Amino acid sequence: MEPKIHLHVLASGSKGNAAVVEGPAGSVLIDCGLSLRELRRRADELGANVDDLEAVLVTHEHADHTSGLRVLSNNCDGELIATTGTASARSDLLALPFSLISHDETLEIAGMVVSAFPTSHDVADPIGLLFSVADDEGEVVDSVGWCTDTGYLTAEALGALRGVRILGIESNHDSEMLAHGPYPAFLKRRVAGEHGHLSNDQCAEALPLLVGPDTETVVALHLSEKNNRPSVCIRTLAAALDAEVMGSGVEARTPDGRVSIVAASQTEPLTIW
Ligand SMILES: [Zn+2]
Ligand SMILES: [Zn+2]
Repeated sequence: MEPKIHLHVLASGSKGNAAVVEGPAGSVLIDCGLSLRELRRRADELGANVDDLEAVLVTHEHADHTSGLRVLSNNCDGELIATTGTASARSDLLALPFSLISHDETLEIAGMVVSAFPTSHDVADPIGLLFSVADDEGEVVDSVGWCTDTGYLTAEALGALRGVRILGIESNHDSEMLAHGPYPAFLKRRVAGEHGHLSNDQCAEALPLLVGPDTETVVALHLSEKNNRPSVCIRTLAAALDAEVMGSGVEARTPDGRVSIVAASQTEPLTIW
């Protein structure tokens, strides 16, 4: 594949999520759990554009994905896009002018084909997203997958994410750290449950199925600050691909140098070219 899409992860985690997907004909934002000021500051840092967005795609209604949406929508000409369930989940979201996307639909935005697939989370109708660019013959030449906030990977998610060049996938918690960590029992059950968050082990288990010959980067998303550490996450994911952990401990690479594994952070924005 030749890079036609770039991914800028501005923030990832329970304190706020936002990522810019830069296509051949513009940029879209995934989720807006940052203030407009912080969104702009982080985008500037990466040289990404959030002032001329073609669309804002919302994966689900939790505040860490939507808290900045209302202010952004007043400052953005791009379409707001979510499922019916997400768009009508709260009165503040109902007041926003959403265009609706369903699971079996594809949209053309910013020179990319965008499709949604169902995830499993304790909200109305959550989605993950697949972005792809095709050449004149209709052959896919680049693709980015995005899947966070899911208790397990649905069959549709596994199908959509397989073989993408950039794989953005949740690796929320280490199960041992969660079990022995500070969360109250009900929250531990929620996080680990079918409608919670994907663990490092669950993510690692899926990687051999999802990483294909064109895959270059795995970006671990939505890491818990209490129940995970980047080094623990990377070590677990690296083992699944027989990848070697680099000196920093927070990046790994397969022995042929083809696939790298990195972790997105709550505080440090990150670009994947
Ligand atoms: Zn979240
Ligand atoms: Zn959530």
